[in-house]
Amino acid sequence: MNLILMGLPGAGKGTQADKIVDKYKIPHISTGDMFRAAIKNGTELGLKAKAFMDEGSLVPDEVTIGIVRERLSKEDCNNGFLLDGFPRTVAQATALDEMLNGLGRQINHVLYIKVPQEDLFKRLTGRWICPTCGSSYHEIYNPPKVQGKCDKDGSELIQRDDDKPETVGKRLEVNLEQVKPLVNFYESKGNLRNLDGNKEINEVFEDIDEVLIGSNQ
Ligand code: ADP
Ligand code: ADP
Repeated sequence: MNLILMGLPGAGKGTQADKIVDKYKIPHISTGDMFRAAIKNGTELGLKAKAFMDEGSLVPDEVTIGIVRERLSKEDCNNGFLLDGFPRTVAQATALDEMLNGLGRQINHVLYIKVPQEDLFKRLTGRWICPTCGSSYHEIYNPPKVQGKCDKDGSELIQRDDDKPETVGKRLEVNLEQVKPLVNFYESKGNLRNLDGNKEINEVFEDIDEVLIGSNQ
């Protein structure tokens, strides 16, 4: 099962990714998480990505495509993968197609989670994440069991630098510009699955699961 999770920042990609990988046992590949890990570890990739992320812009395509190519070549992706936050541009989508063609594989479903723009701002500015495992919480919509601590590993939750109100507006604007051509790209291929992300977290997952169960039989 080769899957893509698509949606504007705050649509619930990370939240749903956790549930999908739990059930379907495929690796979760989040370019955002990979960049954040690289920044934390002070690697060359981190240095390249940081300035773009801080200002809410996209990291250049060649850098992003390179890290995904390397990750998809790992053995744990042989039985499938879940891409989260990649591709975000048509150039990335085209490069992904080429990579997969080379491996004799293709994307089965593009799960596109749609949420009204006015809700995304509230979701992002109230988001708290676990710096250890990347799990995402929300102070109102999805609070952790113990305030300020990750349910899974007990780490102290933090707010992402780019979830500050000043950066959120720019991120939404940048991503909005890219999303329409990307939607058209996958719509024309016939593997775009539209999902209403403006429901309870578990209801969104049920809708996703329906698509995946259907294709797994
Ligand atoms: P969100 O969870 O808000 O959708 P991500 O964690 O996926 O955000 O991404 C955070 C930042 O990392 C983006 O604002 C961008 O700077 C960078 N990034 C992540 N994925 C990509 C990508 N596919 N192309 C370019 N930049 C990316
Ligand atoms: P993305 O990875 O697409 O940027 P996240 O999964 O991190 O999005 O979710 C963004 C914020 O919205 C988080 O604080 C998360 O807890 C919250 N959230 C996710 N799904 C829902 C939902 N269906 N309803 C309300 N809040 C949600």
